[in-house]
Amino acid sequence: MEGINSEFIYDLRRMGSLNMIQWCQKVGLLASRRVCNVCQKEMKFIERKDKKDGFEWICRERTVNIHCVKMSVRKDSWFEHSHMEIWKVLLITYMWVMEARVDHICLDVGVNESTVTDWMSFCREVCFVVFENESEPLGGEGVVVEIYESKFGKRKYNRGKRVEGKWVFGGVERGSSRCFFKVVECRSKDILLDIIKNYIKPKSILISDCWKAYDCLKDEGFTHLKVNHSITFKDPESGAHTNSIEGTWSAIKRSFPRHKVNNALIYYLCEYVWRRQFRTEKFNNFCTFIKKIYDVNKEVVGSKK
Ligand SMILES: [Zn+2]
Repeated sequence: MEGINSEFIYDLRRMGSLNMIQWCQKVGLLASRRVCNVCQKEMKFIERKDKKDGFEWICRERTVNIHCVKMSVRKDSWFEHSHMEIWKVLLITYMWVMEARVDHICLDVGVNESTVTDWMSFCREVCFVVFENESEPLGGEGVVVEIYESKFGKRKYNRGKRVEGKWVFGGVERGSSRCFFKVVECRSKDILLDIIKNYIKPKSILISDCWKAYDCLKDEGFTHLKVNHSITFKDPESGAHTNSIEGTWSAIKRSFPRHKVNNALIYYLCEYVWRRQFRTEKFNNFCTFIKKIYDVNKEVVGSKK
């Protein structure tokens, strides 16, 4: 899937529906075979001019019934439940990956803003689900992980209403692009320790600020270095500093649409983590993420109509 850009997607569109579908099948975004759930035979891929995509899966096993089972080409895919043409969904996805502005996406794809923002949240959700399912803990013996907690979305007044914001706790592994973030109710010792044990391997070297909840870390099998931000950026005794996580944190805060962050915060954090990890072959890598969730080639059978 190398060399994909918006021109390539426009080209696919110009080449017609069959080409579009076949390309998606080749890269695994659409299923390339289907099995009928009634007779267990391979279904056939046929042209159907009355269908949106112009094609459909069908079982022609006459022993059960003529045309007993039909299935949309989009079943279980990233494109299922959308009324848009496949190329439009692909182009929105591509442009989200490339960090295009919402108004540019609207213009290029020819859809309205709410459609684009919906699909952008679906994209973030993909990052979220994949990271939730398969994040390998950070750190390990001798590996430095910086941990940090910060309040997001906090402003004193928003049109007269007080906005409380949310605590986010996170960690960044030094020397790699790996990190994690969690939205937490409060930054109590029990909550933070629970997350640390889940997301960071024992014997890691943890660097944190002087928040008292972290005092228990050395009893939990971690090497713990503290940085006192109010005194000096770099602790003269331990030599520890938290440059990289503070840079990360301010980059995240800058990248968020402030007024929208509250409920969707974790999704934006996951987008950030994804972008941090995949700086090259981004569209290819994002399609790999999509396929982990919208797995069209798992054994799926058609439903009777
Ligand atoms: Zn059948």
